[in-house]
Amino acid sequence: MPHIPPTSGTDEHELDGALATVARPVVRAPYDRGPDEKMNVKASIPFWALHVLAVAGTLWFGITPKALLVFVLMVWGRVWFITAGYHRYFAHRSYRTSRAFQLFLAVGGATCAQKGPLWWAGHHREHHRTSDTELDIHSPLRGFWWSHVGWILCDKYDEIPVERIRDFHKFPELRWIDKHNGLFPWAAAIASFAFAGWSGLFFGFLLGTVVLWHNTFIVNSLAHVFGRRRYATDDTSRNSFLIALTTLGEGWHNNHHHLQSSARNGFYWWEIDVTYYVLKGLSWVGIVKDLKVPSKAVRAADHIADGNFDVGMFRAHTARAQATVAHSHVSSLHARVADSASAAAVAVADRRAALAEAIESRKAALDELVQSSMATAEDLARTNRVGNRELGLLDT
Ligand SMILES: [Zn+2]
Ligand SMILES: [Zn+2]
Repeated sequence: MPHIPPTSGTDEHELDGALATVARPVVRAPYDRGPDEKMNVKASIPFWALHVLAVAGTLWFGITPKALLVFVLMVWGRVWFITAGYHRYFAHRSYRTSRAFQLFLAVGGATCAQKGPLWWAGHHREHHRTSDTELDIHSPLRGFWWSHVGWILCDKYDEIPVERIRDFHKFPELRWIDKHNGLFPWAAAIASFAFAGWSGLFFGFLLGTVVLWHNTFIVNSLAHVFGRRRYATDDTSRNSFLIALTTLGEGWHNNHHHLQSSARNGFYWWEIDVTYYVLKGLSWVGIVKDLKVPSKAVRAADHIADGNFDVGMFRAHTARAQATVAHSHVSSLHARVADSASAAAVAVADRRAALAEAIESRKAALDELVQSSMATAEDLARTNRVGNRELGLLDT
């Protein structure tokens, strides 16, 4: 007899097999990140370890007045090098200065542990070129966390985008700083320790660096999400008084996207912009010159309140809608296919079980029939033998 496998096992196998063939299809909405746009978890360990070490060390060694001074310098002293140097000078060339002061800006920026000026400014120029399109490396439309820090911890953007920063790439001293950028934060750490001891190192330098990092990153993330829009720029940039205070003027990010080449991001006297005030002071003593500032006409142009079409927000809303439709369509389709597949698998299993039962009962009936036929045949043979013996046809 052929072997009929037990129906329970068949059921499970059929179900697994059917579902396994329904692999979730990979469909990407325009702003979805590619498979190569992932945080490098292993390489990011020192970054996160520093957060823990900074807090633990501060709790352990406490906060001394000297360390507090180091902390303020490490956060806002260095923020100035990022905003005035890396951002407004290297990325946007919003003023001019000597090669010596350019070097000073580069060294100051390199102590911030945000790589070198060429890497930083090159990627920032890319952000302005592609702001909030699907090509923007750190648009919050590709994920808030990604725009804040994910893109920095991803291997894909490790290299200097040389073609975007050729004007500064020609300076060998800047290339050297970019290549050896890891040395400069160490120098700042040693100086902090020499001046204010362990508290200076853990609270002043380490916690100061963690706060500095996030105080810079919020310009890429929060300043495209939180605040008000004055200008109808083709991106999602916003103006925020709070972010402007903590980042020394970078919170006027919508103003900045409206006129990137401006050395002044706070366009009016009430828009606090400490970076600009310091630059203005340096221009009075001749260290920097040709500070570009917005004209009255530029400040008055393209106000959203004047009925200008806000193409930046329109694009952002469309992108979100597209992503929602793409993902919900794919997941509902997947759910429907999976439902049908499992229903089909259950039906096949039921049918097979019924068939097996029918075969078993027919086999039993056949067995019974064969048995009774055999018995009848044996009876017949016996009767025949007895009859023959009686007739004397057989010897026994
Ligand atoms: Zn921006
Ligand atoms: Zn910029």
